[in-house]
Amino acid sequence: MTKAEKKTQMDNTETENTHAFETDVSRLLDIVANALYSNKDVFLRELISNAADACDRLRYEAINNPALKEKDEAFGIHIAIDREGDKLMIRDNGIGMNKEDLIENLGTIARSGTAAILENLKSSGKPDDMSLIGQFGVGFYASFMVAKTVEVISRKAGDNKAWKWVSDGRTGFSITEASKDEAALLNGQSGTHITLNTKPDAYDYLIDDKVIQIVMIYSDHIDIPVYLDTKEKDADQPINAASALWTRPKSEITDEQYKEFYHHIGHVFDEPLLTTHWKAEGVIEYTGLTFIPSMRPWDLYDPQRQHSLKLYVKKVYISDKVDNLLYPWMRFVKGVVDTQDLPLNISREMLQNNPVVSKMRSGITKKILSELDKLSRDDEPAFETFWYQFGAVLKEGLYDAVEHRDDLFKVCRFRTTDKTGTLTSLADYIERMKDGQEEIYYISGDNADSLKKSPQLEGFTARGLEVLLLTDTVDEFWLQMVTDYKDKKFRSVTKGQVDLNKFDDIKDDPAQSDEDKAEKQKTSASVELLRQHLEKILKDDVNYIRISKRLTESPVCLIAEDGSVDMHMEKVLKIQQNYDPTTKRVLEINKDHALIKKLAQMREENEENPVINEAAHLLYDQAMIIQGETIPDPAGFAKRMADFMTKGLST
Ligand code: ADP
Ligand code: MG
Repeated sequence: MTKAEKKTQMDNTETENTHAFETDVSRLLDIVANALYSNKDVFLRELISNAADACDRLRYEAINNPALKEKDEAFGIHIAIDREGDKLMIRDNGIGMNKEDLIENLGTIARSGTAAILENLKSSGKPDDMSLIGQFGVGFYASFMVAKTVEVISRKAGDNKAWKWVSDGRTGFSITEASKDEAALLNGQSGTHITLNTKPDAYDYLIDDKVIQIVMIYSDHIDIPVYLDTKEKDADQPINAASALWTRPKSEITDEQYKEFYHHIGHVFDEPLLTTHWKAEGVIEYTGLTFIPSMRPWDLYDPQRQHSLKLYVKKVYISDKVDNLLYPWMRFVKGVVDTQDLPLNISREMLQNNPVVSKMRSGITKKILSELDKLSRDDEPAFETFWYQFGAVLKEGLYDAVEHRDDLFKVCRFRTTDKTGTLTSLADYIERMKDGQEEIYYISGDNADSLKKSPQLEGFTARGLEVLLLTDTVDEFWLQMVTDYKDKKFRSVTKGQVDLNKFDDIKDDPAQSDEDKAEKQKTSASVELLRQHLEKILKDDVNYIRISKRLTESPVCLIAEDGSVDMHMEKVLKIQQNYDPTTKRVLEINKDHALIKKLAQMREENEENPVINEAAHLLYDQAMIIQGETIPDPAGFAKRMADFMTKGLST
């Protein structure tokens, strides 16, 4: 439904001034009212956070349109308490909201993140699973934890009408034009005035010390001053530090303060996994304060998702939509960057191709990658959490940004066939390479456990050669662009020829008799004849058949030819792009397998034996199935299988 359709629907069913909440909002409010947080204090954090955002937005808009800031009064957030009337009031002189904004922002779940929480709650089937929702925060609606009713008076900068939004937080809300007295609460400026009519059990929040304490804990880092007014007059000293956190020296900031700041700017409520606060000095100067979340955001793979690093210029918030400020493969990073080296009144369009912005991006990327590298050495469990959450996204950088590739490889981790089962870096893999090994072996597929059982790995495993198990779709893509690491070529074990014999130090066994040797030669000659025979039978299915150097246990496997599309890549392409492969695969047969030997013998006795024909098709189908492919003629396969089983059982 579009916004306009939604609106007409509301207007049809409701009177002009009253609106029912959307189902999702009602549900959310229900959850909120039923003690969402064990800690109700956070409602104030949410309201202050919104007020500060509103001030930031007006400050930015007013750079190019100074008339929007009507009075020459500093930005501020004022809290007032009416103990007798059971009211708590919060006022800001920020951007304000018009009628549509009020409906859209406070009457629907505008934030897609909140909608996602609800989805999660629905699908978890546990509507009381508050631990989950507690990690997200519900913004404005948190006020209904402590308020029976909430009244919002707001006037948008540049408008002359003020509006009043009232709700009991259950059924819906009403919107009317604010009276003169009500509008006067805004103190002759644009902005928002919120009144909470508190519940009887929320009496605590009408006590000065309690409010001061909450502001100190949650809102100390906010750049806008927060005041606690008395009935008689506005306070003249703010109760928070009112200086942007990133401008303070690191030594004066506690972990708790960093965390609260992360919650405020990130609109998320998990613990930051990695906090990086630095000042870059050089050609371009800027301060960065970035966070890597410990939880993956729900829309990490949504193609619409953009990064949300906020750009400030000389402490003035500019935008969180400057594409070039951060690579898409770092889109999980939250934080702020503040620079002196851009003009304040730069337009958003001009920011997109700005060289200063690109240089900052490069610096930010380097810094974060080096901090991650450090984390991998200092705190392995934390690093692993990071890698499982965001590794696949970060790997997009391997093909996207050549200049950061080396640093990226330092933090990339891979599963391998190594027995320990831990993740490995490429540097460590190279350390463990066998004498004579010049390539980095890998196999790619959907799932590490089934990959480990691939027949193509047999010869490698038998010789103690370690193979990387690549299971992210993105792996296929960077491997198209990146051919080597530290002069070692990446080499797929499901593609082309491999020479594994050089790893065998089997010398000619002097004890071996001449008869044995003759016998061996005879077998290989007969397997070669079988190979040619099978090739004729399967000429429509495979390009050619080859005696395998990589199989030790299975009778057959499929291989992609050198220069053609690799096995798993082909599967990915088929799914994503309707790809129709042009080259057929190579079938490898294991000359030492009993089944192959037996077939070779049968062919020698009677070249026309129809069993060989059936067996050829079965072997091919089997190789396809192991590869996770659908076989061309399942009914034919089943019939042949049944015939062979019957024969097997009746002897
Ligand atoms: P969030 O802050 O994460 O967007 P909230 O539920 O806290 O979610 O607020 C919803 C929206 O309502 C905000 O995005 C903002 O557009 C609007 N809003 C809330 N409080 C104010 C305010 N004091 N001034 C202006 N707009 C506000
Ligand atoms: Mg908010």
